[in-house]
Amino acid sequence: MHQYRGRMIIHTGSMFSGKTSSLENDLKRFSIANYKVTAFKPNLDSRYSKREIVTHDKVAFKAMPIETSDDILKEVEKNSPQVIGIDEVQFLKDEPENVLENLEKILEKGITIVMAGLDMDYTAKPFEIVKELMPKADYLHKHHAVCKSCGADAWVSHRKIESNNRVEIGAIEEYEPLCRSCYKKAIEIDKLNKNQEKFI
Ligand SMILES: [Zn+2]
Repeated sequence: MHQYRGRMIIHTGSMFSGKTSSLENDLKRFSIANYKVTAFKPNLDSRYSKREIVTHDKVAFKAMPIETSDDILKEVEKNSPQVIGIDEVQFLKDEPENVLENLEKILEKGITIVMAGLDMDYTAKPFEIVKELMPKADYLHKHHAVCKSCGADAWVSHRKIESNNRVEIGAIEEYEPLCRSCYKKAIEIDKLNKNQEKFI
């Protein structure tokens, strides 16, 4: 049996950091090694396709649309995969406690879990579930996009459009990866612009 049996692998980072591509790569490698692989993806993100994990470079891997980790556990119990992939794990609808419990049950069966998820939202606030999962991972990979402003490693996805929704599904038009110092400058500018609007 392979060395990743019952292990948890997490790919995290900002948008455009290559998290999903890394998840896909791992799943492809397990498929090539003839392990039974099932991929899942929370329903919320329907940007391109409900049934596939699609990276920004449009490479697709078949994924089952789900709402909560209960759906994952049910499918695992029904079809006994050896490896599961979960993309956009921050969009799971159940409480972190429930997710942790269900994933623990899956690991106990000797199944490998590979996940990709955003570490922080556009205000640099951590996604609760990813925050809880990160220390539990056997292998944790933090990926970096390139800062749109200065070319250093990016830290967060800055939202360019105005909206207070935590989740605004979008691609390159709505978000830009920025490093910490460029992000701080950008939010200062956003604040100035907002204040100016008030006086017009
Ligand atoms: Zn920068």
